[in-house]
Amino acid sequence: MKKITIAVDGFSSCGKSTMAKDLAKEIGYVYVDSGAMYRTVALYALEQGIIKEGKIDEDRLKQEMGNINISFHFNPQRGRPDTYLNGQCVEDRIRTLEVSNHVSPIAALGFVREEMVRQQQRMGEEGGIIMDGRDIGTTVFPNAELKIFVTASAEIRAQRRYDELTAKGESCNMADILRNVEERDYIDTHREISPLCQAADALVLDNSHMTIEEQKQWLIRAYQHAIEK
Ligand code: C5P
Repeated sequence: MKKITIAVDGFSSCGKSTMAKDLAKEIGYVYVDSGAMYRTVALYALEQGIIKEGKIDEDRLKQEMGNINISFHFNPQRGRPDTYLNGQCVEDRIRTLEVSNHVSPIAALGFVREEMVRQQQRMGEEGGIIMDGRDIGTTVFPNAELKIFVTASAEIRAQRRYDELTAKGESCNMADILRNVEERDYIDTHREISPLCQAADALVLDNSHMTIEEQKQWLIRAYQHAIEK
């Protein structure tokens, strides 16, 4: 059967990764969470003191981009890939609110995007890939056979992120999370390079009132339709 490229874009915390990962498992495709790559760069910058008091030392980050080696390794217990930075698993460390608070300004830097897009395109060279992010259908894989644009209200997305973080034992409050979701939406849609926007040929899914199972079924139908074309 022909292996296609599937791009899933949308706002933060709208459940893109869950649906993309579930479909990848179902159809035996490689799943790549491109947001995890930007989060890993932000984690590196925070841990190396490249971000201080909210300010990014862009020259230093540019010089050190070559030291940031990002890879994914499938974790059979979680049924999805874990993110590694220079050979060390950073899957939990990149999901904290601190990283979320710093990732969008990092992802707005041209030299960071150039490098991440280059790596993402290399991962997709052979097709059979589902990648989620903000610019996958517009910049990374503009010729993807199936493009999905996912959205949900900011309040619902903040509630989902709150549930996720509290389930992991991270203490957080709803107001901070909602602020983070809205700030990231703003930066992601207003940045100069590859801002988050719906590709003209994307199918739109507002999943505000859908269960995970309903989204999964919706996406499977969209995939089946795309491969029959
Ligand atoms: O998907 P996730 O919310 O984990 O992504 C974290 C951040 O990385 C986003 O808020 C966005 O700033 C950035 N990002 C991006 N382009 C992508 C994926 C994520 O700019 N393709």
